[in-house]
Amino acid sequence: MQPRDLSAHTPYVPGRGSEEVARELGMDPDDLTKLSSNENPFGPSPKAVDAVREAAADVDVYPTTSHTDLTETLAAKWDLAPAQIWVSPGADGSIDYLSRAMLDPGDSVLVPTPGFSYYGMSARYHHGSVATYELSKADDFAQTPEAVLDAYDGERIVYLTTPHNPTGAEFSTEGVVELAESVDEDALVVVDEAYGEYADARSAIDLLGERDDVAVLRTFSKAYGLAGLRIGWAAVPDEWADAYARVNTPFAANEVACRAALAALDDEAHVERTVETARWARGYASDHLDARTWESAGNFVLADVGDASAVAEASQREGVIVRDCTSFGLPSCVRISCGTEDQTRRAVETLNGVLSEVAKA
Ligand SMILES: *Cc1c(COP(=O)(O)O)cnc(C)c1O
Repeated sequence: MQPRDLSAHTPYVPGRGSEEVARELGMDPDDLTKLSSNENPFGPSPKAVDAVREAAADVDVYPTTSHTDLTETLAAKWDLAPAQIWVSPGADGSIDYLSRAMLDPGDSVLVPTPGFSYYGMSARYHHGSVATYELSKADDFAQTPEAVLDAYDGERIVYLTTPHNPTGAEFSTEGVVELAESVDEDALVVVDEAYGEYADARSAIDLLGERDDVAVLRTFSKAYGLAGLRIGWAAVPDEWADAYARVNTPFAANEVACRAALAALDDEAHVERTVETARWARGYASDHLDARTWESAGNFVLADVGDASAVAEASQREGVIVRDCTSFGLPSCVRISCGTEDQTRRAVETLNGVLSEVAKA
């Protein structure tokens, strides 16, 4: 017996982990600087760590109160009704919930290329198909309604990422409105703000008061430093908010994650420090890296290094792990996550060394 035809399903390619690379190179994971997955270099808030410890004793019960508390806290923070907050295992979980809620078999979604691969993966799992719009390198990956509308052909969901992974480019809120008004009436525009905390722009969540065709994705994985707990959420329009009860996987957002997320929301100083350091690191990398970079509003910088696989491998041998963007469709680019000051300086120095070796070869 075989599973269904999965030939169109491409596996997700994660950034490489320290443990994995350390084993391969016979190094101590502590000697590695891992800047490949846009994680928080300061780790989780100490308050979240305490919450995880405390929650450990309660994991015999299904998460109910914690889920309600988190939903209500987010609703209050963002001035939405609790039913408009769809808590999920990572923002990836919300992508699945939106696929389930929106897609009939054969419906399609429109996604950016280069871009985050899970949008298309989720659509395919849910018997949908995937079309792409191009963000062109020649155009500095500019994110405009025109770039999306040129490719738009009646898709049910249109995904925007702002700040965009891996380029760092933003999509303006005015642009989101223009796009939502230009696509079909039953098309949902999903604005993925996984890196929203790092940007100055206002959130597209502000649009939900007046629009029923925009949803926004948010996560605790990046600025809040909880990637390992898998907790995120979607903000959805009031009109169809009650679909959540019909599409969510029961108890998928776990007790420990919900408690940690609540504690993390309570530590604004940790997020501020994280965001400020990322801003510094973006500037440092673009000023000092001997490679072309693009302006980024996220916690990472995209750099044009020639042969990305060769550069990422050489840099890894020197103990600095960056993300080879070949799997994003950018074989000449690496993405460098913002680290602490020390990590960022080390990464830039190491990459510059690698680049000068490559130039000599
Ligand atoms: C990291 C990321 C997410 C979500 O990650 P989760 O860990 O599932 O919350 C979503 N979109 C983009 C573009 C990302 O980079």
